[in-house]
Amino acid sequence: MAATQITTHKNYICGQWVESVTGRTYQVHNPAHTDQIVGEFQTSGAEDALRAVAAAKEGLAIWGNTPAPARATIIYKALEIMGRRADEMAQTITIEEGKPIGDAAGEVKRSMNIMEYAAGEGRRMFGYTTPSELPNTVAYTVRRPLGIVGIITPWNFPLAIPAWKIAPALICGNALVFKPASATPLSAVKLMEIFEEAGLPPGVLNLVTGPGGQVGNALVESPDVKGISFTGSTEVGTELYAESAKRLKKVQAEMGGKNAVIVLADADMNKAMGGIVSGAFGSTGQRCTATSRVIVEEGVYDQFMAELLDRTSKLTIGDGIDPSIDVSPLASQNQKDKVMEYIGIGTEEGANLAYGGHALSGGDFDQGYYVEPTIFTDVSPDMRIAKEEIFGPVLTVFKAKDLTEAIDISNSVEFGLSSSVYTKDISKAYEYINTVETGMVHVNAPTLGGEVHLPFGGLNSSGVGQREQGTAMVDFFSEVITVYIDHAAEAGERAKFI
Ligand code: NDP
Repeated sequence: MAATQITTHKNYICGQWVESVTGRTYQVHNPAHTDQIVGEFQTSGAEDALRAVAAAKEGLAIWGNTPAPARATIIYKALEIMGRRADEMAQTITIEEGKPIGDAAGEVKRSMNIMEYAAGEGRRMFGYTTPSELPNTVAYTVRRPLGIVGIITPWNFPLAIPAWKIAPALICGNALVFKPASATPLSAVKLMEIFEEAGLPPGVLNLVTGPGGQVGNALVESPDVKGISFTGSTEVGTELYAESAKRLKKVQAEMGGKNAVIVLADADMNKAMGGIVSGAFGSTGQRCTATSRVIVEEGVYDQFMAELLDRTSKLTIGDGIDPSIDVSPLASQNQKDKVMEYIGIGTEEGANLAYGGHALSGGDFDQGYYVEPTIFTDVSPDMRIAKEEIFGPVLTVFKAKDLTEAIDISNSVEFGLSSSVYTKDISKAYEYINTVETGMVHVNAPTLGGEVHLPFGGLNSSGVGQREQGTAMVDFFSEVITVYIDHAAEAGERAKFI
């Protein structure tokens, strides 16, 4: 992309594309070709965020009073537009985040699935009725919008995570201020274009790009913002949760992971290997549900390692826009530095670097943030590489004598997002399901992903607040109001029940 073709993208506030009041912009580069500029974006500040909140107030007055089935028609329209732009959206994800184009296409599909599911909720949004203990009385519950909600998202799923927050929030009647990750604002801009074309009223969905410390923080501090739906690191999420609590703000925070797979001696090794290699190195290990630990029962350890090293050595590395590539660059220089630092830490801690461990250079590799798929063995649970989220293509391998020890290792971290066991023994599978401490549990399947009609989220340091997606998605984005109606014509028997 030549310098003359750089497009400057604006914030979207009250249905208008506007420049930041700071007058400053920043550039985003393609992680596979750092000389290519993806676009220029607004470096907004707190004042921009507050303007967006003021716009959201206007939006809420209209949208909150729009019947949910009518809200759904706009989300269905947005879904149709996204379908039309699906290839362009996938390419956008790959050029700004770096993930392989197949993964990016999957992300677009996932975004469409959640939009479809959320729109369907427009004709459900169930409350319940129940008998009252009083005569002539009807008691029921009804859902109301939460109000103005801040949406704060990370860079690793620049379209799907915004979509899985925004679509449920919209169907529930909220007005939103969306602050995407600074590294991946182009997917966010395009998502706004889609909702604009779909006919969303001004002020209902507002986009403000810029640093989290300013824009995100202003949303947390604003008394008009009733809730924050956040996905990102445990460090930022913890701080945001604490600050929001001081203001009695509702928070949903999905955070880091250190997801483990257990391979028992009776596992189908071929199946396990496929799930582990894609889980650890797909999307360059930059998924919150990526596999970062494998715990292997000792009887099959040697066979497992031989197979793992062989499969890993066959992965192709390069620019994710090429559909034949398995492992693409990391998303940023920061990510590359962090991953290389952890590889150094692992070596210093005494783990055995069994595969990879190098940043790649020479030819096209000089243009991007490439790190080899990396495998550590002889890892013990107290090492930092065993406990901390690395968020890159680094897999740590443990040996366990049996399922009990394997589950202990799996549960020995502060995180609790996703986990998996490979076994053909149904009793062991259930023992695992009942004791592993993660919000999402897989049997004979990778730690990755999830389906939009099931709840998504983690335990412990991986998540706090109500679950996202599935039927749970409306719980965060609405308030339940309890209604009692005494329909007796006159005062009468009621008194004796009170
Ligand atoms: P960060 O926590 O660094 O950032 C997340 C978002 O928060 C960004 O938009 C960021 O803005 C913003 N932010 C930063 N500081 C503040 C602040 N003080 N107040 C308010 N907002 C702020 O995470 P990453 O973007 O690096 O994302 C990677 C992390 O996300 C990993 O830990 C990963 O596990 C997690 N994740 C969790 C998922 C889950 O469902 N559990 C799913 C996907 C990712 P800016 O970009 O400007 O810094």
